[in-house]
Amino acid sequence: MKSDITRLVDRYGHFEQRLRQHTERWCRPFCSVCRHVCCRVHFCVETRESVFLRRVVKRFSDRSVFSLSHGWLTATGCALAAGHPPVCYEFLCRHISDAVSGDPCRHYALQVSSLLITHVGRRALGGRHLVEITRASDLNRVNPDRFMNRLREAEIAFQAVVDILDGRSSKADIQALFRIVRPPWTDDQEIRRLM
Ligand code: SF4
Ligand code: SF4
Repeated sequence: MKSDITRLVDRYGHFEQRLRQHTERWCRPFCSVCRHVCCRVHFCVETRESVFLRRVVKRFSDRSVFSLSHGWLTATGCALAAGHPPVCYEFLCRHISDAVSGDPCRHYALQVSSLLITHVGRRALGGRHLVEITRASDLNRVNPDRFMNRLREAEIAFQAVVDILDGRSSKADIQALFRIVRPPWTDDQEIRRLM
């Protein structure tokens, strides 16, 4: 029978892969013509410091090789299928953000999608985020039910993000986003009007 942590690693990794595929599809038109490289080795290093992310990488990206000079970055992009530090999702550059700035709902949905991985790991152990846990013995102290609740909220919000970015939005979708983060004040009035 699988241990609690193994179950969490599995479910988290599957969720992250779906999120990543969607994020890549959404960002590709911008990133493919951009000369800037956003990846930094000190971001990549978080994966190696976090005992949970190390487990995710072992399970989903076992063949990926970390280099001291380039981290997980290769000539064809990031080598990881899952196990990225939350910061890799949190960064939304202006090219991408501005593309939806005229539509408060889609703008808000994009911001929520950038915070889903962060949300899953919040307060995993006391006030510590999941990626801040660096000792294997501490990982066993994570409350699996609380973790699963957050993961479920992120999965539901992810589906809402997909709907909204595809041009379909419902009151339930907006409510799912509210559970992750409040809308930015600039969009707040318009979004409340839709509820
Ligand atoms: S995220 Fe933005 S800045 Fe970074 S490569 Fe893509 S388009 Fe360029
Ligand atoms: S996307 Fe991959 S290569 Fe880029 S900073 Fe994150 S872990 Fe490193």
